[in-house]
Amino acid sequence: QAVFQSDIGALMEQVGTGKESLSFMKRRIRRLAAQWASAARRLDDKLRNHWREQKRILVHVGFLTEESGDVFSPKVLKGGPLGEMVQWADILTALHVLGHNLKISFSLKELHGFLGVPPGRGSCPLTGPLPFDLIYTDYHGLQQMKQLMGLSLRKHKCHIRVIDTFGTEPAYNHEEYATLHGYRTNWGYWNLHGQQYMTMFPHTPDNSFMGFVAEELNETERLNIQKNKVKNMAVVYGKEANMWKGKEKFLAILHRHMEIHGTVYYEAQRPPEVPAFVKNHGLLPQQELQQLLRKAKLFIGFGFPYEGPAPLEAIANGCIFLQPKFNPPHSSLNHEFFRGKPTSREVSSQHPYAEQYIGRPHVITIDFNNSEEFDATIREIMRINVEPFLPYEYTCEGMLERLHAYVQNQDFCSPEAPFPPVNSSQTWLGSAPSPFNLLPNSRILTWASNASSFSSWPPLTALRVVASLESESCVKACQTAGLICEPALYRFINIRETFSALDFQCEGVESEKNHLFPAFSAEHAECSLQQDPLLFSCAGSSAKYRRLCPCRDFRNGQVALCKDCL
Ligand code: UDP
Repeated sequence: QAVFQSDIGALMEQVGTGKESLSFMKRRIRRLAAQWASAARRLDDKLRNHWREQKRILVHVGFLTEESGDVFSPKVLKGGPLGEMVQWADILTALHVLGHNLKISFSLKELHGFLGVPPGRGSCPLTGPLPFDLIYTDYHGLQQMKQLMGLSLRKHKCHIRVIDTFGTEPAYNHEEYATLHGYRTNWGYWNLHGQQYMTMFPHTPDNSFMGFVAEELNETERLNIQKNKVKNMAVVYGKEANMWKGKEKFLAILHRHMEIHGTVYYEAQRPPEVPAFVKNHGLLPQQELQQLLRKAKLFIGFGFPYEGPAPLEAIANGCIFLQPKFNPPHSSLNHEFFRGKPTSREVSSQHPYAEQYIGRPHVITIDFNNSEEFDATIREIMRINVEPFLPYEYTCEGMLERLHAYVQNQDFCSPEAPFPPVNSSQTWLGSAPSPFNLLPNSRILTWASNASSFSSWPPLTALRVVASLESESCVKACQTAGLICEPALYRFINIRETFSALDFQCEGVESEKNHLFPAFSAEHAECSLQQDPLLFSCAGSSAKYRRLCPCRDFRNGQVALCKDCL
């Protein structure tokens, strides 16, 4: 049984010392410890009757190992990316607070030790059982584990979770399919289940949303913030000078109305490379950045960095986040930063989560090239009052709840009960002619048969089947229905009966490896089922197909979990 623990002493010791990145994480863990502890108490109350199994968990942070080159640690104090460190610190804390048996590795040597593989050259198969129930790592760590364990990795890979900031779609992850259809990248084709990849934001339901946390405010702090807001104070998002390059025009307009602050790193002898009217504080410790954000009215992004934690921190401290809309959207097809990343996702603004999940009045997304609109928006921002806001999924309680649900329920190791119930050409052989019911006045199917006879998480009671339009992905189709696509439920709809229940008349039914299947092709009245479960994917669309989509409901402020998921 796992018992919540609020003392972080043991965790701090395990993180160790000797690198700026580790010190950054430890400062963060210490600073947020009280917040985690009170969240744990609340979640403990909420889960009162749940038995939680204590898992043996290894966390191997591959990108911070010397063997992977560790380019991050030396840049911690120089304006380099910190989002990953924020997320790892929070993952470690959450697993620790949930009371699991945690081992942490930041080097190959430690990894060898924990896996019980003797150090030495070449790979060495792990002959005995894996001494862990779960391993959290990243792409670098995965590569290192492959070198270490050789082919035996394959046997154990269902225990692995890959922390993957921007996400990996199934078409890129499937080795044979990626090779045949042009989805090969430097990252993909590990043949994992899509949901074994865990992202920083809920980018795509094909992956699991891991997230991180932002600081929470108590009532006094909320009141003080509102009292002390300086209505003409703006902070620019971007700790490196090159993020400000070419933005002089916007800065000039902004400067007409507001006092501009920055936190751009610079070397002692060299003045910061930002306009003289900017009040640059240099890179600030996290805590001091929070103080600055508490006073500021506006946090403004100029397009880079993409999808980091800072905008959530700003919004949580009562700032309005103003950011550019990308038209056309940025993606691996048209933008250097995303090129070669294993995703086709279209990034519609600097921070699509802020745009789509939070929105006005906290987040304003506009075309920065329209100077008049830009100017008018700045003036509007100075006029309106907004309260600090933090989505539940980015609070400590929200992250603990989500991670608890994953740790206890996600299972990529047990052989799935065969479905349909009898081995066949994907035909339902239950007692009723079709396992589905049509919801009244809609084109949405629910599961009608005895749901409890099939074990599944999320449970089958959450399933809502919809058909996409042509050229529409299942991500979009579910969203339009007010739901979210749930790849774990694909296997239940990958049967002939789904087509008939949705009134698609099939001339023929085939089964093929295609990440868009199951789908209906209107032109040939052909119904296609998915042959390989690893290719079940919410992402992807084609003018030729109407896709069958397994959607589900979700909790308010916790999109990763369905209503019956806890
Ligand atoms: N940050 C900081 N000092 C600063 C600016 C940012 O400590 O002067 C922190 C900030 O609190 C956030 C983290 O850096 O948690 C990551 O910020 P960002 O959104 O810029 O993402 P990144 O590109 O670094 O991953």
